[in-house]
Amino acid sequence: MTLFAAVDMAPRDPILGLNEQFNADPNPAKVNLGVGVYFDDNGKLPLLNCVQAAEHQLVDAHKPRGYLPIDGIAAYDKAVQGLVFGADSEILKAGRVATVQALGGTGGLKIGADFLKKLRPTAKVLISDPSWENHRALFTSAGFPVESYPYYDAEKRGVRFDDMLGALQAAPAGTIVVLHACCHNPTGYEITPAQWTRVVEVLKARALIPFLDMAYQGFGEGIAEDGAVIQQFVASGMDFFVSTSFSKSFSLYGERVGALSVVCTSKDEAAKVLSQLKIVIRTNYSNPPTHGAQVVATVLETPALRKMWEEELAGMRQRIKQMRTLLIDKLAAAGVQQDFSFIRSQVGMFSYSGLSTEQMQRLRSEFGVYGVDSGRICVAALNTRNIDYVAASIAKVL
Ligand code: PMP
Repeated sequence: MTLFAAVDMAPRDPILGLNEQFNADPNPAKVNLGVGVYFDDNGKLPLLNCVQAAEHQLVDAHKPRGYLPIDGIAAYDKAVQGLVFGADSEILKAGRVATVQALGGTGGLKIGADFLKKLRPTAKVLISDPSWENHRALFTSAGFPVESYPYYDAEKRGVRFDDMLGALQAAPAGTIVVLHACCHNPTGYEITPAQWTRVVEVLKARALIPFLDMAYQGFGEGIAEDGAVIQQFVASGMDFFVSTSFSKSFSLYGERVGALSVVCTSKDEAAKVLSQLKIVIRTNYSNPPTHGAQVVATVLETPALRKMWEEELAGMRQRIKQMRTLLIDKLAAAGVQQDFSFIRSQVGMFSYSGLSTEQMQRLRSEFGVYGVDSGRICVAALNTRNIDYVAASIAKVL
């Protein structure tokens, strides 16, 4: 018997597995709408001009590569706080927010999950049904039982808001509730500001613990607009968690740039929380890497580069919106009778297309159009060159 004889083969990651299948597909017309990555109209992964400019500055500065502090680059953490809470935020001035640099949004979620497990070992976690797949896996691996609250309404094409609120109302005090701050992945459906107000009220009244995942700030309606929900939580006076990702908004996927911010009741509590977050980091990977965070901090702190970033981000956001409208038009032009106008009401990179698993599989096997079996397609991977083919293929499987 060898040491690893009893080790089972783990299932492939469903979305990354789809990528492997796509790469192996010889169909020259194939289109990958599976993975959650923004591509430009040429189908290329962008390297933002603001990032290139910051990288030139950094290379010219010939900075040595010492260890970073456990919580990351101070200027980066400060810049993250400004983006998430607003530069003039009273809670920032009061020192009530503990922010640490993290390995992408995933890293921010995991640091928060590990800290919460020590703080509330018997709590359970609620995620939306459906949610980003890794939410369940990540909180499960941190030791929590993970359940879901109703979210997607397949019939009405929207959010089952009353059911969602009912589930939150029924949750035991101390339950950790993971919420998508904007651009819900995978459905693309958002709740309205007035509905957020209700959610905040219930979370507060029931003493639940909000964990906001903000992986797409700036991809929905704008940086401040997408961050507006954070202001509602701040105004409620609750303690809460926010994870940030710059993977999409800076097109820095592989650099693993993200953060975790924990809003506390006092400066004193924030200092203690920060000290505990540092223990979590220290015992996992000691301290974060330099490059990506330095790039993001340089862009956010340099007015000209920041302006450039905001314009480039707006360009990505607008292109996605154009693709939504274009897809609706092209489907109609391809003879589709069914109403697909709901695609325009969705926000962010993704669309729950309403297509069945069987239709998604036919798209893949017959046309080389790769989406997720759930019907999720990445609108940010559509472009003026592939959209006719995608629309025609969808028309054929309907
Ligand atoms: N949360 C959600 C909702 C996401 O969609 C993603 C990325 N797909 C993440 C977190 C993780 O982001 P990152 O790649 O920065 O770890």
